[in-house]
Amino acid sequence: MKKIAFFDAKPYDRIWFDRKKEQADFDIRYFDDRLTPDTAVLAAGCDAVCAFVNDEINAAVVDILYGYGIRVIAMRCAGYNNIDFKAAFGRIHVVRVPAYSPHAVAEHTAALMLTLNRRIHRAYNRTREGNFALAGLVGRDLHGRTAGVIGTGKIGRCFIDILRGFGMRVLAFDPFPSDLPGVEFVPLAQLAAESDVISLHCPLTDRTRHIINAGTLAQMKQGAMLLNTSRGALVDSEALLAALKEGRLGAAGLDVYEEESDVFFEDHSDRILADDTLARLISMPNVIVTSHQAFLTDEALEGIAEVTLRNLTEFFSGAGLTNEICYRCTRYGACKKEKHERCF
Ligand code: NAD
Repeated sequence: MKKIAFFDAKPYDRIWFDRKKEQADFDIRYFDDRLTPDTAVLAAGCDAVCAFVNDEINAAVVDILYGYGIRVIAMRCAGYNNIDFKAAFGRIHVVRVPAYSPHAVAEHTAALMLTLNRRIHRAYNRTREGNFALAGLVGRDLHGRTAGVIGTGKIGRCFIDILRGFGMRVLAFDPFPSDLPGVEFVPLAQLAAESDVISLHCPLTDRTRHIINAGTLAQMKQGAMLLNTSRGALVDSEALLAALKEGRLGAAGLDVYEEESDVFFEDHSDRILADDTLARLISMPNVIVTSHQAFLTDEALEGIAEVTLRNLTEFFSGAGLTNEICYRCTRYGACKKEKHERCF
């Protein structure tokens, strides 16, 4: 029976992987620790590694895992910015779950937008304290306002459908524009200047790192709302904080944060937050931070477990890897995968 070293395991992961592991004959060893050069030793004696968004799959980790004879890493997520693909290429195959309920992430983005716009988070606290005053809770009709969507892949499109349901005008920016009904593809500067709500749905790459920076924030409408449910480093957090402090940016809904790996997914409630930027953002009445939970629905967790186990079964059967990814697929689109072969 193949042994899988499962890093950064949480109770909600275990429920779905334990339910689904009947579909494959695996011995899953759950570890609470994140995968780092210091914890990679836990994978000794295993045949595969299963990792998540904040695990560090750098060259040092690849070397250690390769030394243990591990030839596959199954990412139980869509994003892959935490992997050194060059170090892994030719040694360890990387498979992922390219899509698992894009609706889950799009709906969470909508929840952040509606909560911030109508101050539901503040109203919830007030009425629990017996405060039924309405001052400070004034929102805006979304109907007729303009939304700007950066990245129009699976999640961006689901979110666009929701925005169109609200009767919003939708602008989009994507290097690969498509023919989406009711959506106007425009340059990023125009999207920034005309949108009341801006939402990020592109991957984190060298080109998109800090796509929202002091310059983009300065181009935005006074009082605009920024939503980021994609990856933290798409936004320059210091520039975001400055725009909020100066009152230029009206609100921010963040499910991801640049330096989230030391904080998110864990209970720090009995400690002082060491990250001053995050602490200041959380203290603001017009900012909501959720802890990378946009994916967290039963449907998405079930899909993640099913596809991850299928990816591993494919690997051990010697078959082609439907969901393999390497730096050649990501950068050049000229990978052997195009010919339905393994990347190497
Ligand atoms: P996708 O691959 O279907 O779509 C990504 C889109 O971004 C594509 O249309 C692509 O052309 C576009 N893009 C690429 N570079 C761009 C650029 N420079 N500017 C603008 N657009 C660009 O991906 P998806 O499934 O829609 O997921 C999007 C992102 O959401 C993932 O990369 C991941 O980081 C994030 N995500 C977050 C969570 C969460 O729980 N918060 C869960 C899943 C995915």
